[in-house]
This record gives sequence, structure tokens and C-alpha cells, in this order.
Amino acid sequence: MKAMILKQISDLSRNKSPLELVDMDKPIPKAGEILINVSVCGVCHTELDEIEGRTPPASFPRVLGHQVVGKVEKLGDGAVRFKKGDRVGVAWIYSSCGACRYCVEGNDNLCEKFRATGRDADGGYAEYMTVSEHFAYGIPEAFTDSEAAPLLCAGAIGYRSLRLTDIKDGQNLGLTGFGASGHLVIKMARHMFPSSDIYVFARSEQEREFAIELGAVWAGNSEDTSPQQLDAIIDTTPVWKPVVEALKNLNTEGRLVINAIRKEEVDKKYLLMLDYAKHLWMEKEIKSVANVSRKDVSEFLQLASEIGLQPEIQEYSLKDANKALIELKEGNIKGAKVLVIDKQE
Ligand SMILES: [Zn+2]
Ligand SMILES: [Zn+2]
Repeated sequence: MKAMILKQISDLSRNKSPLELVDMDKPIPKAGEILINVSVCGVCHTELDEIEGRTPPASFPRVLGHQVVGKVEKLGDGAVRFKKGDRVGVAWIYSSCGACRYCVEGNDNLCEKFRATGRDADGGYAEYMTVSEHFAYGIPEAFTDSEAAPLLCAGAIGYRSLRLTDIKDGQNLGLTGFGASGHLVIKMARHMFPSSDIYVFARSEQEREFAIELGAVWAGNSEDTSPQQLDAIIDTTPVWKPVVEALKNLNTEGRLVINAIRKEEVDKKYLLMLDYAKHLWMEKEIKSVANVSRKDVSEFLQLASEIGLQPEIQEYSLKDANKALIELKEGNIKGAKVLVIDKQE
């Protein structure tokens, strides 16, 4: 089968082609696993973190990609949840121990043995992949394959971030960074909290215009002061400046939720600008979001189908994965990027 593989950690500012197109053996499903004939795989900012070594793959070579949609082609021994031909998705959570306190409570995203799709096991930048049947999800009919892919990461983790803000309807919500997750969160938030006003902080004029189109009451730069104090802010940027800048806009008891698997070091010195009185006093909180649980993914797919959430997408062919990644790195974002796995290539 064809796959785009990562052989080593790479600096994307110098190497514009970190992934290599290869022919490799089609994986064979083990007991309890399913073989998926991949149709589409979303491209996520986390892939940049994997390639550049901030959250490196467990071993090399590795097939990246954790927003996978395809059809079940083969069942491993004892696999019964799906039948051949069913359309399924795979998200960031590839497996967990199933026995620890976090797994038992449904917070399998926090499990110490958490393994990530496309980092600790081969993912969806390929024609086929295997996964335990318990870590695959039926895809609601409302979505095409390309629409469903970004829901599996940007959407599901956006949903978790929104839950972790703990906001109530009518409270003000801020979003700093407005990529794939942001544009889904704004749609979810408008549905779940219809009386809440949403304020967006984004680096480009194009992103700010897009935010207003999607219903933000205000859009500004990450360092701007919002016209109202905000009860919660979700940060989806890869860096530190927007975090410090967001804190000044938080209301008393406000919560900043950081939705990023790792932060880049480039502007870490910005943290020295942190002013306790202005940024943290009055019981302001900072909380991170770690991974996604299976419950988040399932609940979110259901919600997305109920509210008719349609992600904006940009399609690329599998062999153009490097192009999609570099564009993502350079901030060329309008909606979510997906790789269409065309078997004719
Ligand atoms: Zn992701
Ligand atoms: Zn566990």
C-alpha cells in the first residue's frame, strides 16, 4: 500500500518535505482489531509537533495522521462491533489501558498508557490502517468522508475544550487562535450557548473576517483588549504571547483553557511579561486540555450531526501531504485540511 512516512525528526523551516511517499505492506488486523480502507485523513497541527519533535513518534518510520475516515475491510479474530463495509473513523486516542482509575471513569484521555494514533502507532496518511474495534466510531450519515475527518480531532477536542471552560449560557467566550478547531468551536458554542457573545483574537485579517462571518460579535489581534471582559477563553495557538495577552481580558474567576499538545519555544520569553495583578489576580485560572476521550469523540459526532455542523475543508491528495503541512505551518489556514486517499495514484 502507499503511505506517507516520517523517518526522522525534522526542522520544517529548512526541510519542506519531511514525509516520504513509500510502498509498504498492508497491515493485518490482529485479534479484536479492524482493517480500515482509508478514504480521507485530516491534517492536524499536532503533526507539526510530531515532525519537529515536540511530541515525537514512539519509533520510526511512522505513518502520521489521526483524523481517519474509511470503510471496514477486514475483521480480526473476535471483532464484532462493526461489519465489513461499515464507515468508521479513528481519532487521536489509539488505545489506553482500560483498567486504571482514569479509564474506568471515562477519562481514558488521561491514562498513563495512552497511545496516540499516528504517533505511537501507524495512522491514516496511508491507504490502510488497523485499530482496535473499541477505538473506532461509526460516522453519522450527515457527513461526507472529508467533512467527517476534521470533526474527529479539531471538532472533538474543541468540544472537550468548550466543556472544560465550564461557561454558562449568556457568559462571554473568547477564542484566541482561529484555525480548524476555532471555526468548529464557534459553531458549537453558538448552538450550546445561544445567548453568549463570542470574541475572536486572530493573527490575520482573513481569519478575523471569517470569525465575524461565523457569528463572532468582535474580532481583533491577539494583543488587543476586548470591548468586554470574558468569562472564559480557549487558546488554540502554538505559542505563548496569546496566552499572556488573553489573561488580561479574563473576567474575575475567568478560566483560560489551553488547547495545545505542546507550545513552541520561539516566544517563551513573553511569559516574563506576566503581571500577577493584571493577569492572574481575582481567581483567574489556567487549564490545559489533554488529548480526547472516546466519550468526547462519540458525544461530539452525535452533537455535530444534530446541529448540522459543516466544517470548511480544503482537500489535498496523499502525495501532497508535505504541501498541506507546510501551508499549515506558515499559517495559511481557512478551514481544515484533509488528504484524500485516491487509490489510483
Ligand atoms: Zn489533531
Ligand atoms: Zn488507563
